[in-house]
Formats: sequence, structure tokens, C-alpha cells
Amino acid sequence: LVHGKPNFGLVVHGGAGSIRRELKKEVGKRSAYLRKSVAAGYEVLRKGRSSTDAVERAITVLEDCGVFNAGSGSCLTVEGKIEPDAALMNGDQSCGAVAHASIVKNPISLARSVMEKSDHVLIAGTRELEEFARAVGFPLSQLEPTAYRRLEWKRRLGELKSSGKIAGWPRNSTLVSKSYIKSPGTVGAVAMDSNGKLCAGVSTGGRFMKLPGRIGDSAIVGAGLYADYDVGAAVATGEGEEIIKVCLCKAACDFMKLGLDAQDASDAAINLISQKRGRGTAGIISIDRLGGLGVSRNTQMMPHSYRFSSMNKIETNGFGL
Ligand code: ASP
Repeated sequence: LVHGKPNFGLVVHGGAGSIRRELKKEVGKRSAYLRKSVAAGYEVLRKGRSSTDAVERAITVLEDCGVFNAGSGSCLTVEGKIEPDAALMNGDQSCGAVAHASIVKNPISLARSVMEKSDHVLIAGTRELEEFARAVGFPLSQLEPTAYRRLEWKRRLGELKSSGKIAGWPRNSTLVSKSYIKSPGTVGAVAMDSNGKLCAGVSTGGRFMKLPGRIGDSAIVGAGLYADYDVGAAVATGEGEEIIKVCLCKAACDFMKLGLDAQDASDAAINLISQKRGRGTAGIISIDRLGGLGVSRNTQMMPHSYRFSSMNKIETNGFGL
């Protein structure tokens, strides 16, 4: 509490991964967009609007900029297509998710429509989502890969053809040919509003060279995100296949339930995935029910940015440099 009021605010991340050369050049650009995202979300909260509005707003900024692995910046499947996943969950446990949402500009907003306008939690499939979007009057717009993503896809396809392997996908390599946390940039946000309500949201293109139809942790409640008013809220990033196996965000919230604050709970969840699934697998951001912040990772980097009402400016960190 700050002067008897909830410490409202939000934290956003720009994906966990290892440090690549290209990324070093982009630190300025990425940190500027993370700050822009936090500023937009914070403004929503300052006006007294909900954490759901703030998370949607913050993620929309990151989906639109094309710099992160979300929205127009989404990485591509082995077929060279965009198949993004996104989800949103409130502390009252209302939630909505979409998988393969390539037919809208902002997958996070379509996930919110699933939450608010349907009786389901997760809707998957391009054609199916197109029909759903039409039924709820959601504007359609085909996401097109950025030039950078196309180039990277061509490069990886070349590697696949010459070596018979897809980095990061050992078994897939024999199907067609360990990827890919090496191209970080998924986005996520967790917010607490001035009524103390929590919301967690995530949006991703998935992992580079994934098989068509693959759905990652970002669309799966408990794995890629979780929220519960009584304890806190969390969002994960990293290797979705490993995050799903340990239900990472539910694990972090369970640690908060045992009395840990957001930071200790996030560290405990990351220790858990490091022990069970190895290092280099994940990062997490969280807020506990008292408005405490948690940020943890077992990867080289997870750029993130945040502002709470107890602070007078935005902080940005986690580039690992
Ligand atoms: N967790 C995402 C996925 O596996 C990717 C990421 O966070 O970079 O789909």
C-alpha cells in the first residue's frame, strides 16, 4: 500500500533468451518500445481504469511495433507462416486465449473477446478464429511477416536443407529436421489497478521453425500465465514445451500462496524449472496481491520494464549486458 492505496502499476517483458549479436544492436530500440508500452499501460491505470485494460493496452503497443516476437513481429513456422498465440487472465480467474490467431492485428484483444464474449477459455485455428471474430464483430486483418522474419526463415530453411537439422527441434528435425529461445521477443504484461485487481497477459509468435499446428505455453492457463486475487499473477516466456511441463505460472502463484512475495516466488519457480528441465529455459514476471514485483530468469536475458505508483519513473532492465 502507498498512502493507504494499492501500489498500482505494471511490468512488461520482451522475451527471454540468449544474447545474440543482432540483439545487441537493438537494445535501444527494444528498451524504447518497452518503456512506451509501460507508459501507455500506466496511463490507463492512473486514470482509474482496470488492470485488464492496462495489460491489453501495453501488449498492443508491443504487438504493433514489429520488433518483438508478437503480432506483426511474430516468428514463422517451418512453412514460413505466422501462427501466434495470446492469452489474458484476471485475478477472478476469468480468462481467454487464442492459438493461431494470424487473422487479426492484435491477438491479445481477440483473446480478451474469447474471455468476455464466449463461454470458452481457448479457441484455436485460423478458420475457426476467423468465424469467431466475425460473430463478435472483431475486425479482421491478416498479419504479414516482417522482412526480418522472412530473411531469418530463409536462412533457417537453408540450414535445414544443408544440414538436415532445425536448431532446437531435435525430433522435428527427423520429421522434416533446438531452437529457439535464441530468437527472443515474446511479450507479456502483469498489472495491478487502483482497486487492487490483478491481470496477466501474453502474446507470442511462438518459436521459430515450429511445426504447423503447434500451440505453446502462451495460450495455456497455468503454464504461460496465471492470476488469482488471493495470491498474485504471473506471465512466463521461454521454451514453451518446458514451461508447460512444470505449469510454471501456476507454480509461481502456488509459491505466493505459501507466503512468498512475488520476487521469492518467481525465483522459486525458476529454480524449479532449472532443476527439472534445465537452465536457459524460462523467464517470469509477477505481481503479488500486495503489489510487490517479481522478475526472474534462467536465461541470459529478459528485457523488462515497469512502473508502480510508488515510483516516479519507469525502470528498464534485464538486457544482460
Ligand atoms: N513461450 C513462447 C512459446 O514457446 C516463446 C517465448 O516466450 O519466446 O511459444
